[in-house]
Amino acid sequence: MKYRPMGSLGWDVSALGFGCMRFPTKRFNRLAADGAEATRIVRSGIDQGINYVDTAWFYHMGESERILGEALKDGYRERVKLVTKMPTPLARKEEDFDKYLHAQLERLQTDYLDVYMMHTLDRAGFDKIKRLKFIEKAEKARDAGLIRHIGFSFHDTLPVFKEIIDYYDWDVAQIQYNYMDTCIQATTEGLEYAHAKDVAVVVMEPLKGGRLANPPAEALEVMRASGVERTPVDWALQFLWNRPEVAVVLSGMGSQRMVDENCASADHSGVGILTEVEQETIERLAEVYRAKIVVPCTACRYCMPCPYGVDIPGNFAALNNMQLGNNWYFRYKTKRGVRKLAQTSAQLDSSKTNGSVHLCTQCRRCVEKCPQHIDIPVELEKVKSEFGR
Ligand code: SF4
Ligand code: SF4
Repeated sequence: MKYRPMGSLGWDVSALGFGCMRFPTKRFNRLAADGAEATRIVRSGIDQGINYVDTAWFYHMGESERILGEALKDGYRERVKLVTKMPTPLARKEEDFDKYLHAQLERLQTDYLDVYMMHTLDRAGFDKIKRLKFIEKAEKARDAGLIRHIGFSFHDTLPVFKEIIDYYDWDVAQIQYNYMDTCIQATTEGLEYAHAKDVAVVVMEPLKGGRLANPPAEALEVMRASGVERTPVDWALQFLWNRPEVAVVLSGMGSQRMVDENCASADHSGVGILTEVEQETIERLAEVYRAKIVVPCTACRYCMPCPYGVDIPGNFAALNNMQLGNNWYFRYKTKRGVRKLAQTSAQLDSSKTNGSVHLCTQCRRCVEKCPQHIDIPVELEKVKSEFGR
């Protein structure tokens, strides 16, 4: 494992952090996290050198924090920096800060958090934490020893990002960044801006919800033509570690194989190691992907559950996979996705939900939950018109 400076916090953080949003799930219920398997792979990651573990109130519908609390028993808690996030979207009044923080400490079975973040700040979320005085609350919690550092995770545009950075002396900012997303959300400029202000930058969605791990044929051809031997995942991760502004890259790892592969990538990571040819290759890869993605869904599931039973990320995955698909993997994924979601018109009934797009009533309750600002009902119409009934 390689270690990097964590902004101005004075500790070295592993290049790879364990994101606990995509734990392995149970065989017959893909929404339920498999606690035993998750514990095993989290501990394996720590044994391989990971010292930064990130979770949140919402992940796995609240189970991620509980499972992580179990996984960090037997001496593992002391070996990591533990991070979770105030569920800002749920907060309604000032007292909610203490209510959630204490519940999270209990779930995680710990006396303190190394970093406590305001979760998923956008313009509305930022206004809310100011109105509810959550930064002042966080400072009091820090004085009381319940948290060590204060940060935020972010999903909005560059001007909002700069405004948040300038508003307070943050320790950590967590942004969505990968070789496809250099011009959206915080952007490369935001990454550099935060770093210049000594804010440690944590990167999430390094593989864009797994999409960069499964490239279409055109992207594979670009990789092959470069003459450089790297896996698709390694290309995406090394792009991030090449940059001095990135402190730690979070990967939501859901299997032992992912942990082993990502740790192996982190072992040979470093600032400025990519050659000019490699950097040009990555730019070409980004162009290939951008031309193919229909809906920029990262499968984070913040919009779920839909009250009418629509599997929102499942539908978008089917649509994107079809567009990406000119190899067997994507054809298989698309067919499987459509079979699972559409089935028969008799099953299009919210009492027997199967996730089909045809269950959508256009109620728009999901829209404000999406950190990618996808107009979900409008984009679901594209799924409908592509796949029909
Ligand atoms: S707009 Fe459609 S997908 Fe969104 S919550 Fe309403 S029914 Fe569900
Ligand atoms: S539609 Fe938005 S909120 Fe829902 S899974 Fe995709 S990115 Fe996440």
